[in-house]
Parts: sequence; structure tokens; C-alpha cells
Amino acid sequence: MVKALYGVFGNPVAHSKSPQIHQVFADQAGIEIDYQKIEPSENEFQSKVKEFVAAGGKGFNVTLPFKEEAYALMSECSKRAARAEAVNTVVIEDEGRYFGDNTDGVGLVTDIIVNHGWTIADQKLLIIGAGGAVKGVLGSLVDEKPQHIVVTNRTLVRAEQLIKHYDQSLCEAKGFNAINDHYDLIINGTSASLSGKIPEIPASVIGSKSRCYDMVYAADETLFNRWAIDLGAEEAVDGLGMLVEQAARAFELWTGYRPKTADVVSRLRKQLSLSIHNK
Ligand code: NAP
Repeated sequence: MVKALYGVFGNPVAHSKSPQIHQVFADQAGIEIDYQKIEPSENEFQSKVKEFVAAGGKGFNVTLPFKEEAYALMSECSKRAARAEAVNTVVIEDEGRYFGDNTDGVGLVTDIIVNHGWTIADQKLLIIGAGGAVKGVLGSLVDEKPQHIVVTNRTLVRAEQLIKHYDQSLCEAKGFNAINDHYDLIINGTSASLSGKIPEIPASVIGSKSRCYDMVYAADETLFNRWAIDLGAEEAVDGLGMLVEQAARAFELWTGYRPKTADVVSRLRKQLSLSIHNK
């Protein structure tokens, strides 16, 4: 039986957990897949996509730094991909016809509401960061009807640009120094944790009922989450669930099968913790 060809395009891509996640989903669905990692160099994205399509590819994921380039290549896009101007999931319809979606936002929202049982509706949100990740999820957060959203970023102008696409009475951009309130839900969408740093936002953002979500994930507690808990936040979780949920939406788009995710998250969590303890 010929395996259905899927893949992920990124650079670097060696670290990607997508092949493993999609293999578990395929086993659940009883489908045979061949999910490949493809690492185009800077100018090679389009030609590598063409090669993949010619080899019979049915769909692919896109990660850094190609999400915007993938968006430009699409024949048709979902509303959420158009809002994000970035695509992380592509369905190959016919040769040269691509449908693009962005499942990062729905992945984050599903993880927050379904997996963690937190609320977004009517909450005061602080989103830290204004890079590709925040751009990809902001529309889905807005759709959940929070009371107010402040987007703050080290480079303020990027946050100002980002919120222009949304209702200005709901979304506001602020510099780190201008934040002077505490928030119900604080989402760290920066990559600061990866370089051992915490965004320089005031400690006063954390109240005793604050819940924090770091989009970065790690074997142990992320630096940002440790900081938040030390300041008295009620709960703090990382982005491993978001990673699995965005993949689940991609898999459903490709195959029509809606994967179960809880087992995959705990399996990956165990592996992360084993990898750190074996070092
Ligand atoms: P990006 O486009 O490179 O943006 C990076 C963001 O982090 C910018 O807002 C940048 O601020 C900010 N930043 C970096 N270092 C900082 C520091 N020391 N202090 C304050 N702000 C800092 O990256 P991205 O695509 O948005 O990704 C952000 C993170 O989200 C990554 O770590 C990625 O792994 C994670 N992510 C997770 C998932 C998931 O499924 N869990 C999905 C997507 C992304 P400036 O604008 O001032 O440079």
C-alpha cells in the first residue's frame, strides 16, 4: 500500500516533533503516512514545494522562516490564515492549487480552554510579543471575546502594526514601561525564554488570580513561568499542548479524522523530561 506523503518545511527543521506527532495521529486513524522533514535554504522554498507536490505530496506544515512565503504561494486561504498573513498548514488540492490555513491560533485556544479549562471570554489579556507567533494567534484570541487585550512588545511599533487589523476599542498596544495593571491571562509569545531571558515587563502584571501561558515549551518549567509563579500567579503552563493541538487541526484538515491529543501531549512531556535527565 502506498503511504500518503506529508511533511514539514522549515529551517532549521531537525528539531521538529511534527513527524512523531502525525505518526501517532495516523496510527489512531489507521492511515499509512510518510511524513518527511524538508529543510529548504533561504531561496529554495518554492522549488522544494514543487518537488514535494511532484512526488505526490498531499499536504504539508510550514514553520519558521517560511510561513509568510507560504501564504503568498496559496491559491486560497482560510480567514484565519489571511488575518495572520501566514500559513502553517497546506492542503495540496491539485498540482499548483494550494489551500492554506493557520492552525496556531485554534491550537492555542483549544489548549487554553479545553485542555487547561481556563476562560478567555470576558478576561483581561496581556500578550507579550509581536512576532510571527502572536500574529498567528491574535485573531483566534479576539474571536473568544475577551474583555480587553493589551499587546506589548520590546519593539513597540511591531505591536502597534499588529493591532491595526483589529477593533481598536478591544485591542491596545503598549510599551513594556507603560503597563500598569494586572491581568487575568498573560500569554508570553516571545522567544525570550529560549535565550535565558524574561521580557522586562513590570512584576505588577501578575495578580493572585493571574494565569500565564508561555508559548515556548521545555522539559522543566520555563523561565517565564517560574518568574510568574514566584510572583504569585495562580497557574502557569507551557506551549506543548498548543504544538499538539495545532498539529491535530492540520491532520483533520488533511484526512477528515479528528485525533485525540491528551496521550500525545503526555508522551512528549515524558520524552522531554527523559532527554533532560539523560544529559
Ligand atoms: P519571532 O517572529 O522571531 O518573534 C520573536 C518575539 O520575541 C518578538 O516579539 C521579539 O521582540 C520577542 N523577543 C525576543 N527576545 C526577547 C527578549 N529578550 N525580551 C523581550 N522580547 C523578546 O518568533 P515567533 O515566531 O513569534 O515565535 C515566538 C516563540 O513562540 C518562539 O519561541 C516559538 O518557539 C514559540 N512558538 C510556539 C508554538 C507552539 O506551538 N507552542 C508555535 C509558534 C511559536 P522584538 O520584536 O522586540 O524583537
